[in-house]
Amino acid sequence: MSYDFDLITIGGGSGGIATTNRAASYGARCLIIERDPYMGGTCVNVGCVPKKAMWYGASMAHALRDATGYGFDVQVGSFDWAAFVAKRQNYISNINKFYDSSFAKNGVETRHGEARFIDKNTIRVGDEQISAERILIAVGGTPTLPDIPGAEHAITSDGFFALKQQPRKVMVLGAGYIAVELAGMLQALGTDVTLGIRKDRFLRDFDEPVSDQLFGAMQADGVTIETGFTASAVEKTGESLSVIAESGTRLDGFDEVIFAIGRTPLTPPLDLSKAGVNTNKRGYIPVDKYQETNVKGVFAVGDVIGEAELTPVAIAAGRRLADRLYNGQTDRHLKYENIATVVFSHPPIGTIGLTEKEAMAEYGDSVKVYESSFNPMYMAFTDHKVKTTMRLIVEGEDEKIVGCHLIGRDADEMMQGFAVAISMGATKKQFDDTVAIHPTSGEELVTMR
Ligand code: FAD
Ligand code: NDP
Repeated sequence: MSYDFDLITIGGGSGGIATTNRAASYGARCLIIERDPYMGGTCVNVGCVPKKAMWYGASMAHALRDATGYGFDVQVGSFDWAAFVAKRQNYISNINKFYDSSFAKNGVETRHGEARFIDKNTIRVGDEQISAERILIAVGGTPTLPDIPGAEHAITSDGFFALKQQPRKVMVLGAGYIAVELAGMLQALGTDVTLGIRKDRFLRDFDEPVSDQLFGAMQADGVTIETGFTASAVEKTGESLSVIAESGTRLDGFDEVIFAIGRTPLTPPLDLSKAGVNTNKRGYIPVDKYQETNVKGVFAVGDVIGEAELTPVAIAAGRRLADRLYNGQTDRHLKYENIATVVFSHPPIGTIGLTEKEAMAEYGDSVKVYESSFNPMYMAFTDHKVKTTMRLIVEGEDEKIVGCHLIGRDADEMMQGFAVAISMGATKKQFDDTVAIHPTSGEELVTMR
């Protein structure tokens, strides 16, 4: 049977782009279909990239505050949100262009439009019907809005990145990565932020002392945290928004209300039933360890499989898939374990492996925790002190490191190198045998007692 292409990829985001370019580099005839008029997906357009740019801006605000401690007579005026957003968007459009040129270089064909299945080898996009031997689904997800009255008055992370003016007063609802990142950035840039969480803690899947420390640090930075707060309605009076909680609490006077309560996979428009591809109850596509769905020849990578929804995970799974399908690396696949991640909060969190609780559940009494909590040297001169905490979770007689959790200045940049050692199976003794770099915060990780 002859097909128009060897591989059609649906979705021009992190996972789709990485897989397609890698497959094409091995000579596969590839087509990538993206519903937006530009490539890049969530990470580049409404995720990691604009977020990290705003995070740098917010970190600059922290640095300006700290500068007086170093002897500078700093008079900080206002922050020009509109000018910064224009620069940020310009940076993003250069990345969009880079992707277009990468496809041209690799001989990948592109279409813009919403794709859906006709059958397991055929896709419709616009008026075209196109076939391929294999199809990759990499459609990612979209931010979830709750089904409550007035939710249409609120925005999500997508709406946050579309804001042309800085909001004066904001309520952020949610308890995951996005909620704490957006709340921290907005507060640092001068917005009055209230964070509403359903339970009494946020980042509940993270190592507890680390997420608890962030809770205190955000409060110290001026974020108001409302615990036990589940929004039941949003009301709009003129330009002002109010949020009403199930408990009856009512908070008024917000310019924006931002829901950051997770994401929903973009599977419904795909007409998956035409290809016989299964989804689970939440709409995610289950795959085997080789990223293959229940239908032979149809694969899925990235957020749409609902596991570790992170850009490098989508990329790593996709590239390994292309290596296997088009470069003869027969057992190549991604192991979804020991994935390091950073929360770009203020201060940032870096984490890999098991939390203390998870390690105790898995290994019981053979678990030991090493912890170091200190004021980094940078803070010796600042009025506002932000502590750093480092925790190593080790297991067994050889004290294999099964978890490493950091919070504090530079934790974001520290994590990657330690992640290499930990994924190679490093033990505490091997950490101790590594000569420290002085004076740094990272040296604490190799000198813990
Ligand atoms: P996506 O990047 O979402 O790409 C899917 C693409 O498919 C989209 O472009 C979409 O338009 C397209 N599409 C959907 N349906 C169709 C269709 N029917 N036809 C054609 N095209 C379609 N991860 C990190 O690792 N670090 C971070 O710092 C980070 N920060 C984030 C901050 C925010 C605010 C958000 C929302 C996410 C963040 N993430 C971060 C997560 C990261 O963005 C995702 O894990 C990553 O983008 C997933 O890649 P993907 O290819 O699976 O999906
Ligand atoms: P998350 O899944 O991280 O967190 C959402 C949290 O919101 C839930 O854990 C839950 O916490 C709470 N929640 C769920 N439903 C409701 C509700 N109806 N009302 C109030 N609170 C609710 O989702 P995010 O949207 O923050 O982020 C999506 C994903 O994007 C992340 O999981 C991550 O993989 C990725 N991402 C990665 C980043 C990074 O690498 N730095 C940055 C941003 C996103 P609880 O049960 O405690 O209430």
